[in-house]
Amino acid sequence: MKFALVTGGSRGIGKAVCVKLAEMGYNVLINYRSNEEEANNTLALVKEKGVDGEIIQFDVSNKEETISKLGGWMEANADKVIEVLVNNAGIRDDGLMMWMKDEQWDNVIKTNLDGFFYVTRLVVNSMLQKKYGRIINMVSLSGLKGLPGQTNYSAAKAGVIGATKALAQEIGRKGITVNAVAPGFIKTDMTDGLNETELKNLVPLKRFGTPEEVAHTVAFLASEGAAYITGEVISINGGLYS
Ligand code: NAP
Repeated sequence: MKFALVTGGSRGIGKAVCVKLAEMGYNVLINYRSNEEEANNTLALVKEKGVDGEIIQFDVSNKEETISKLGGWMEANADKVIEVLVNNAGIRDDGLMMWMKDEQWDNVIKTNLDGFFYVTRLVVNSMLQKKYGRIINMVSLSGLKGLPGQTNYSAAKAGVIGATKALAQEIGRKGITVNAVAPGFIKTDMTDGLNETELKNLVPLKRFGTPEEVAHTVAFLASEGAAYITGEVISINGGLYS
């Protein structure tokens, strides 16, 4: 049984990605950290597409929990193959660097960068055995150009971009592609507190993007047809920057 694992699949962009991958025929393993209700909502949408779905709760920034929960699932479900991994779980905690607290730096780096490492290291081993895989990392405009007030988030996302390019070269010969998607302003809980009326004027397309628009590109990268694209970062930002 072919599965797609989406970290942070319960809300926002991750939720739209789960639904899109389900439409492609993948069974979906939906990860979340704390909001079980939203994870259940996503599961229901996935099942409406006629595929199977499962919820797996763990905090991607916690190495032990990731190994025990995800590693445990993989061991217990040897008949289920994770073909597509979408490293989407992420948080931001903004502040100017001169006032940034240790926890703000640590939490953002741990979730966005360490989380990518803990999850991917586990999944890539089974992809190597199967000689097929698609890894898609959710980065950000912030990791490409840097954004003031986001030194922690920009550093974490830039780190994932570097790792994407390095890993793509390590495992390309095994039929596994590794790419990143870099959204600009997308309407989710994460951007809820931002002044959309003001910020959308900075965007050439004069609006924020939708989670479904990001999911569309993730689905393309996850498809067999994208077999010759690896180590790339695709921007989805309404023309804001590339
Ligand atoms: P969101 O609406 O805040 O959703 C975040 C998701 O990640 C939730 O499902 C959340 O689960 C999960 N999550 C957070 N921390 C986690 C952890 N430690 N372990 C497991 N799951 C965790 O965010 P979003 O806007 O959809 O963002 C998704 C990704 O896109 C992130 O990587 C973000 O950095 C990136 N991005 C977003 C934008 C944007 O404009 N929205 C722009 C650029 C990049 P719980 O609810 O259970 O905590």
